Amino acid sequence: LLCCCLVSFSEAEYLKYKDPKQPLNVRIKDLLKRMTLEEKIGQMVQIERAVATSDVMKNYFIGSVLSGGGSVPAPKASPEAWVQLVNQLQSGSLSTRLGIPMIYGIDAVHGHNNVYKATIFPHNVGLGATRDPLLLKKIGDATALEVRATGIQYVFAPCIAVCRDPRWGRCYESYSEDPQVVRTMTEIIPGLQGDIVGNKLKGVPFVAGKNKVAACAKHYVGDGGTNKGINENNTVISYNGLLSIHMPAYLDAIAKGVSTVMVSYSSWNGKKMHANHFLVTDYLKNKLKFKGFVISDWMGIDRITSPPGANYSYSVQAGVSAGIDMIMVPYNFTIFIDDLTYQVKNKIIPMSRIDDAVSRILRVKFVMGLFENPLADQSLVNQLGSKEHRELAREAVRKSLVLLKNGKSGETPLLPLPKKIAKILVAGSHADNLGYQCGGWTITWQGLGGNDLTVGTTILNAVKQTVDPATEVVFNENPDSNFVKSNKFSYAIVVVGEPPYAETYGDSLNLTIAEPGPSTITNVCSYIRCVVVLVTGRPVVVQPYLSKIDALVAAWLPGTEGQGVADTLFGDYGFSGKLARTWFKSVDQLPMNVGDKHYDPLFSFGFGLTTNSTNY
Ligand code: BGC
Repeated sequence: LLCCCLVSFSEAEYLKYKDPKQPLNVRIKDLLKRMTLEEKIGQMVQIERAVATSDVMKNYFIGSVLSGGGSVPAPKASPEAWVQLVNQLQSGSLSTRLGIPMIYGIDAVHGHNNVYKATIFPHNVGLGATRDPLLLKKIGDATALEVRATGIQYVFAPCIAVCRDPRWGRCYESYSEDPQVVRTMTEIIPGLQGDIVGNKLKGVPFVAGKNKVAACAKHYVGDGGTNKGINENNTVISYNGLLSIHMPAYLDAIAKGVSTVMVSYSSWNGKKMHANHFLVTDYLKNKLKFKGFVISDWMGIDRITSPPGANYSYSVQAGVSAGIDMIMVPYNFTIFIDDLTYQVKNKIIPMSRIDDAVSRILRVKFVMGLFENPLADQSLVNQLGSKEHRELAREAVRKSLVLLKNGKSGETPLLPLPKKIAKILVAGSHADNLGYQCGGWTITWQGLGGNDLTVGTTILNAVKQTVDPATEVVFNENPDSNFVKSNKFSYAIVVVGEPPYAETYGDSLNLTIAEPGPSTITNVCSYIRCVVVLVTGRPVVVQPYLSKIDALVAAWLPGTEGQGVADTLFGDYGFSGKLARTWFKSVDQLPMNVGDKHYDPLFSFGFGLTTNSTNY
């Protein structure tokens, strides 16, 4: 036995790249020099889960897999099933000649939102209103644990867009219109990845081991500045404007060791970001010294269409030459691989560009310990939707609420509401709808209506759990005025807003409350004292209803923990949120942001009334 062990030991070649004691750059260099062109190009490819099998991983040396926009293994898949899926794909990668692990990415943009039973945190627009970086860090911590519970190691978050126009369908993914607020919210990155310890070089990616995930600052750069808020459109702004509004949060993200940066679909002054060598290579990589990898957006290079008539090869060349390292292909990956291989072999794209891309991808994989711990176990499955994480999300909801009005002039404030009264009416399309509360990017890409999509507490149920047992809670989604008049309600809570949406589907020129929300407000608030709770991804038109309403609360897209809304309405906690967005009077004022010359908002940036907690 001893003899045979000795033989196999002496036969096994010492591979520097596999030795975690070797310095990072030594490992990268050692591995890179062993790789064939085919293996290198494979690392640069990220494919969709739906086309990934362990054989595909193995045969094409695929570097990464994603679950794009709610692409889940099965509806309501358990964390164990996720772990199994990820490990199965990983086993394909590990069985390659060099055994380079793949990295699995997902849009965990407000908690692990594609996964059934995960804790769904408020969308970023609400988190911006908390002005609480420490809270963001804790949310990052919790999200990392829930993502790792499913075996996944990489999240396409945070979105650090500075949304300058609420007509944009992704405005809720942005923390604020104000670059300084967005900067402070990048504190979610050390939550997701871990705190940089020691004096690590600025710009080098950092992920602290098995309970953390690689993060992605997106979408670089200027995604929130497009014309009229049209998604993926053109951001027309001077160089100085770009640097002072849209760039600052990237400096923080890089200083905090963010592992990856995703390029924006949008253009800057007419040039597609996916083809912008100056901003991706000269600025991000060279000037800001970002050493992680740059990832394209979903089919982002396919959308490089200028000059007119440009074919796919042109797009591949423009995208890779601009400095994109990992390409989200996601389905037709063989065409991409063939094309890029041809271009490298024919020296259209230099090998040095490929080596830069692969080194960056390997750097992230080495730094996060993927070579040492490529397979997930089931030790974290209880983290998914845990009591602690739901408690944290509930706290985040409370802190995100912005109280915009409390009492008509000359009248006493309505909030906080008393818990013990005869009869209270809860009304509105969004009062008992978990899917609406969560918004887009929840279970599916566009989000879903209804209460079946995942586990959580609707605002209606939260109210029921909060009031005194003797208080009667009556729910009527869209009552007519007779119903309201003929009942003796003490007061009403009306919850209305926008239906869920994501990306271009959310672009809107009128920013109205969804029907029949306005008639619900009128039917209820004309007859009894009412608080209107808005469940929206952005400021919406409220001025026409304002005089009828006693109290107005912006609840944004709070996620699964609707209890946080009731906690605050009934005074167990005080209101503290401050607008991170300017609230316009009418849409023809848009775009209008704090600091503008003709600033004439309904509620200013930073506004938010407070109440005291009555919980003594
Ligand atoms: C979005 C990205 C997202 C990607 C992967 C794209 O459509 O723009 O934000 O990370 O899909 O799902």
